[in-house]
Amino acid sequence: MSKFKCGLEIHVYIDVSKTNQKLFCCCEVNSKAKPNTNICPVCTAQPGSKPALPNKEAVEKVIKTALMFGCKINKELVWQRKHYSWPDLPTGYQKTMSGSYAVPVGEKGSFLGIGITEVHLEEDPARWDPVSGSVDYNRSGYSLIEIVTDPDFRDVEKVREWLKALIKTLTYVKAVNKNMGVKCDVNVSIPPKYGRTEIKNVNSFKSIVRAIEYEISRQQKEVSKGKRIEQQTRAWDDKEGTTKFMRSKEQALDYRFIPDPDLPIVEIKTSFLSEIKKSLPESPDIKAKKITKQGVSKDTAEILAGDLHVINFLDKHKSLDVVWLSNWLRKELLRVLNLEGKDFEEINFKEKNLLELITLWKNKDISPEIGRSLLEELAKKDFSPKQKVEKENLQSIKGESELETFAQQAIKEGKKAVEDYKKGSEKALNSLVGLVMKKTKGKASPSKVKEILKILLK
Ligand SMILES: [Zn+2]
Repeated sequence: MSKFKCGLEIHVYIDVSKTNQKLFCCCEVNSKAKPNTNICPVCTAQPGSKPALPNKEAVEKVIKTALMFGCKINKELVWQRKHYSWPDLPTGYQKTMSGSYAVPVGEKGSFLGIGITEVHLEEDPARWDPVSGSVDYNRSGYSLIEIVTDPDFRDVEKVREWLKALIKTLTYVKAVNKNMGVKCDVNVSIPPKYGRTEIKNVNSFKSIVRAIEYEISRQQKEVSKGKRIEQQTRAWDDKEGTTKFMRSKEQALDYRFIPDPDLPIVEIKTSFLSEIKKSLPESPDIKAKKITKQGVSKDTAEILAGDLHVINFLDKHKSLDVVWLSNWLRKELLRVLNLEGKDFEEINFKEKNLLELITLWKNKDISPEIGRSLLEELAKKDFSPKQKVEKENLQSIKGESELETFAQQAIKEGKKAVEDYKKGSEKALNSLVGLVMKKTKGKASPSKVKEILKILLK
């Protein structure tokens, strides 16, 4: 993939499960309710209605989010009106903490190698269906967090993994309700001029990757024709998989930001802030840094720290050898979680049983082949790996003489492979290893078998 820069503006719904209320009124937050059943004069902007003070739970959750990125938290937060005329916005403006006069909740943080510019709190507009023209005001006034990243992404695949880790982390601290979805605006630019293009309305991880890839190739085509990439806003068309021109820099919308006279400044007291800090785990960036210092590669550390359940497991059992266990978790455990399409906390095994398996594996009491199949089984149904290994006689064959016997048999049976190996074919050797593994029912270490075969075939 060629060079590019990419930054994200991410909108996620706040987990308000304690109060279950919207940001400026007491209407219920329920994404399954029938259209226009959770509404009141405030969230439908009836004449004379005024917003209530913002939901304290939402303010707390947005601070939690900013703290998980190590952001600086501002003490006085200002609400603004962001004006635009759209059927989903009954007041004609959105109440937000972003914009010209804004003081964001948090700024200058980082999350797994990507800079976080700002973290804001704002209300969600209603849901407008442009085809039927109907508007559902249930969603009007839901609490949203907006996270703005620095343009630090250089790898499209990393965007997807990073976003997954972000949502996992914010779900872990109960700041975000992942079931309500993610909305993203994506900024993409390519060399030599890096003219910034903003893509609006990208609403799934898969679409984000597609939108970035499409936009890079579109810009490259323009540049190869000798054109300049002008600053502009484009809309993502998910069906067609393309971006379409919306407006240029000259046509940029004037949101006429003004401080909201109906809403007081939100003062963040030091005691409130320190209480929230106390309730939070260490941030993924700090966790990753700590294990990197202990010898784990930066890449692996960042991947593991993207799932606080996994990194906590590592923290708890690092006496087992932190570098070995980190590599094992990344290579073996994450592979099986991926296979099952589940998160660590969704798998139903007892920690004790997972540890049994890890210990058998690490001590080479079982071969990696047997270990892998046991781990796959364990991810489906809980059992004691130690008992199973004993009962079914799955211990690895460590005795060299026993392995040698199997290797001799394989050499006898695989005459063609032996000839090919002697002519220099590495593949032929691997097929002999496979033959021995079959004879041992997978209970040998392939690298050990290879060693023995090489000696015997000298
Ligand atoms: Zn309401």
